Amino acid sequence: KSGFVSLVGRPNVGKSTLLNRMVGQKIAIMSDKAQTTRNKVQGILTTKSYQIVFIDTPGIHKPKHRLGDFMVKTAMSTFNEVDVVMFLVNVTEKRGPGDDFIIDKLKTVESPVFLVLNKIDQIHPDELLPIIEDYNSQMTFAEIVPISATEGNNVDRLLETVRSYL
Ligand code: GDP
Ligand code: MG
Repeated sequence: KSGFVSLVGRPNVGKSTLLNRMVGQKIAIMSDKAQTTRNKVQGILTTKSYQIVFIDTPGIHKPKHRLGDFMVKTAMSTFNEVDVVMFLVNVTEKRGPGDDFIIDKLKTVESPVFLVLNKIDQIHPDELLPIIEDYNSQMTFAEIVPISATEGNNVDRLLETVRSYL
C-alpha cells in the first residue's frame, strides 16, 4: 500500500523534526527536479509493507495579498487529494490565531484530518486532556495522537494509524 500525507501547522510546532524522525535521511536524497511548487515532496517513508509520500503544502497562513489568497486555495485543493492531513500543534503553547486560521481551512477538507499534539515531553500528562478538549471544541478530527517528535514518543503509533487510512 502507498499513500500521500500532508503535514501542516504553524511555524516551530515541530513539522521538520517529525518529518526527519519519520523518514530519516531519505529527505537528503530527494531530487528537487521532479518536484512542483504546488506539491513539493518533503520525504518518502518506505517499509516492507507500505510507502508514505509526505507533501509540503505552502501557503497555509493568513494571506496579506490576493496572491496569498490564491496560495491558500491551492493548498486546500491539495488537502482534498491526500489520504491524510496531519495538523501538528505545540502543546506547550496556547491555541492561537495561527492555529485558528488553519483550523478554519481544515473544516472544509474532505480527507481525514489528524490532530497531532507535539512536544508532550514538555508537559505533565494531566495537562493533555484540557488541550485535547480545547481543539475538539473547534472541529472534529479523524484521529488525535499525542507525540514527542524529538523523543520519538508515539511516532510509531502515529505511522501505524496513518497506515490504516491508506
Ligand atoms: P517547524 O517550524 O514546524 O518545522 O518546527 P521544527 O521542527 O523546526 O521545530 C521547532 C523547534 O521545536 C526546534 O527547536 C525543535 O527541536 C523543537 N521541537 C520539535 N519537536 C519537539 C518535541 O517533541 N519536544 C520538544 N521539547 N521540542 C521539540
Ligand atoms: Mg520546518
